[in-house]
Amino acid sequence: MALIKCPDCGRDVSDLAPACLGCGRPIAGAVNQPPPSPPPQPAGQQVASPTPTPAAPGTPSAPTFVPAFGGVLRSNIGDVEKIEPVRKMQGFPTGAVLIGVFVIVVVVAAALLLSANRGGPPQAASSTTAPSSASGPTTTAVPIAAATARRASAAATPLPDVNGISCDTLESTIFHIHIHLAIFVDGKEQMLPLGVGIGQPWQVEDSAEGPFVTDGSCFYWIHTHTEDGVVHIESPVRRRFTLGDFFAIWQVPLSTTQVGPAQGQVITYVNGSRDDRNPADIPLLSHERIQLNIGGDVPPYVFDFPPGD
Ligand SMILES: [Zn+2]
Ligand SMILES: [Zn+2]
Repeated sequence: MALIKCPDCGRDVSDLAPACLGCGRPIAGAVNQPPPSPPPQPAGQQVASPTPTPAAPGTPSAPTFVPAFGGVLRSNIGDVEKIEPVRKMQGFPTGAVLIGVFVIVVVVAAALLLSANRGGPPQAASSTTAPSSASGPTTTAVPIAAATARRASAAATPLPDVNGISCDTLESTIFHIHIHLAIFVDGKEQMLPLGVGIGQPWQVEDSAEGPFVTDGSCFYWIHTHTEDGVVHIESPVRRRFTLGDFFAIWQVPLSTTQVGPAQGQVITYVNGSRDDRNPADIPLLSHERIQLNIGGDVPPYVFDFPPGD
């Protein structure tokens, strides 16, 4: 046993006393340590801050728990920052999904626009091709564009009806007969032109009878395809047609004293027999042979219709 001075109050106390009688500082444990005097100062600082100290040496293990509480402590900022990327990584899929949805919407919208654009023209094309295909069968040999343009021009300036006879786009063979017409002026035969009663422009092809107008913008029910004098009646209706109707369509004057520019007494033959009627009133009958003479009489002209005509 020995007397020592209390580190806190300086009073002499027994080194075996559990505590200083003056200030109550624990003595017995501290006195056993050989360097009791010097350490008490730093030891006192350690005692003054007992709670914060565990945090400093415990930092390695502390972060594992702190993030679970929301990272309130500043020492946890680093860990919180480490967590931020994790949250971003967790959020990225959502962003990717949004981007993917946006892309899908854009693609679908574009597809709808394209389909709408594709849907428009085809309908317009079908509507334009339908009429041409409907009226096409009669002009299969003619390019559709040309036929369409021709019909457009024909529609723009349609030929007028003549004596109740219209100029139709299609030839009708409901009533189909042929007549032959010969015209002599001063004893000279006049060539009957081809294409009388057929609207221009024409399509002309060669045939055994010479140039043959195969197509035109329209066909009057009485017309000529060739220049050999054959007059065609191709009519959708059966009615009485006269030579006057043909000359009216031809736009050539015809009377008892005039045929076109030629004037004088008109001598008419029908099927080889003299006919004193007004030539304009002579009915047009199948395989009838009509001859008009002006400025002199010419014997009846003999014409043989082609076999099967
Ligand atoms: Zn014809
Ligand atoms: Zn015919």
